[in-house]
Amino acid sequence: MMTDTTPTQVAALEAFLQDHPTIKFTAPTSPDYPAAREVWNGGRLDNPLAVVQPQTPTGVSTIVKYAKAHKIPFTIRAGGHNLEGRSIVEGALLIDLRALTDVTVSSDRQSATVQGGILQKELATKLWEEGLATPMGTIPGVGYVGWATYGGYGPFSAHWGLGVDQIISATVVSPDGDIVTADETLLKGIRGGGGLFGVILDLTIKVYPLKSLLTGAIVFNSQDIIKTVTDFNAAYEELLDTGIPPELYIQQISFNTPHGRVYAVLFVWSSDDTEEGLRWSEKIASLGPVIMNNVAPTGIPGWLTANGAFVPSKMFGISRTQNIRRITPEVAKVLGQTLDRMPSDPGTMFSIQQLRGVSAEAKSNSVFATREPHLVLEILGFTTEDEAKEESEQWAKRAAEEFQQTDPNNTLPTVYISLLNTMGVESADVLRKAYGPHVPELLALKERIDPENVYSLAVPLLR
Ligand SMILES: Cc1cc2nc3c(=O)[nH]c(=O)nc-3n(C[C@H](O)[C@H](O)[C@H](O)COP(=O)(O)OP(=O)(O)OC[C@H]3O[C@@H](n4cnc5c(N)ncnc54)[C@H](O)[C@@H]3O)c2cc1C
Repeated sequence: MMTDTTPTQVAALEAFLQDHPTIKFTAPTSPDYPAAREVWNGGRLDNPLAVVQPQTPTGVSTIVKYAKAHKIPFTIRAGGHNLEGRSIVEGALLIDLRALTDVTVSSDRQSATVQGGILQKELATKLWEEGLATPMGTIPGVGYVGWATYGGYGPFSAHWGLGVDQIISATVVSPDGDIVTADETLLKGIRGGGGLFGVILDLTIKVYPLKSLLTGAIVFNSQDIIKTVTDFNAAYEELLDTGIPPELYIQQISFNTPHGRVYAVLFVWSSDDTEEGLRWSEKIASLGPVIMNNVAPTGIPGWLTANGAFVPSKMFGISRTQNIRRITPEVAKVLGQTLDRMPSDPGTMFSIQQLRGVSAEAKSNSVFATREPHLVLEILGFTTEDEAKEESEQWAKRAAEEFQQTDPNNTLPTVYISLLNTMGVESADVLRKAYGPHVPELLALKERIDPENVYSLAVPLLR
């Protein structure tokens, strides 16, 4: 909603930026504005005050100083993939980081410094050219820093850890607009609290040598999806008990294709020992009535591109989520029933991420709360058209309720902030759910670093 001050603020900002030509400016009156305000969640209709895109780290500092001095609230956007579209807020200045995409690999090839606006695929491509890899999620257009700093689940977590576990150091624009190197206390907050304390200009992260990746979809016959899902999970739980290698990751997924709903496992093997990986793909395929197994050698950039083809670049709707310890027969039954009645829109999906191995071990250097082996139920009640979303949203809500009614001893008290529904929920409840015992520490750090709440619109909202 436009207030009386809006045109004046926009005009003053435009005049200021004439002396700062490296900061690209898009006014609400510009024909470029509709595209410049886009985020992945198409239902987020908020109109930012204007959009600025600094081309340099100094430009970010300049614009934060200006916004603070003029009491202009602002948001930060990199990949625009916050599920609720929180990187745009009505009347707030949008600072777009997409010009900051440099990657510098260290001379010992054990770390890389990556700028705050880079997308996962851009980073993967630059590292792969060097024979290197680092954990990331499955979708190419997600912002790497937004993924890594709020947790960072993905297929490399059992092998190398979560996104937060890769962060060695960070350069940040402070609430005063100064460019600073994060100390250990601030780093701990960034590892889980993301952009709560400042704009992250760059992260230095761990990287690992990798020449070959084995990936693909193992698709199961889903005529009788309840039986397939129940049988698969009973067998997979047994396999987990006997032990599976850290290089192996499977993500159960159900989605709609023009030929109908599919229940599949996305297989990832992050090791150069391809033969061993192929043996594991056969073992996973043997856990259900397989109808297709296209696991084959590829690279991380190619794998991301293939995944991206499944997820529309703009969606409408809501997500629901829950963390559970195991897929017990009771959970598997609810899962099967949920998939059985999943609406047929190409945007509606269900996916299960898993935390195990090194990523599930206790650590004291982050505020990421959920450090024990678990599975993340991602109930994605989205659609490709706004008008169709009601049915998928209802489906997601019902599924969440049914999972909540399963054995409470199997349900974790905390959930992943990046999947959590925060709309209309008290921020104290959101924080408790996402950060558990770390809430007091997180709030104390915010008070110390950003007492005036300059970064008031960062994810998650604290008040
Ligand atoms: C299709 C899809 C797939 C996903 N897959 C996964 C997955 O596999 N694993 C997983 O863990 N998560 C996944 N997510 C969640 C995703 O990791 C988070 O929503 C993440 O925060 C998105 O980052 P972004 O830069 O794209 O988002 P944006 O909407 O651009 O940013 C969201 C917020 O993050 C903060 N932020 C981002 N970058 C910076 C920065 N450089 N400095 C300061 N603050 C910053 C800001 O508060 C910003 O408003 C997925 C989301 C979607 C929509």
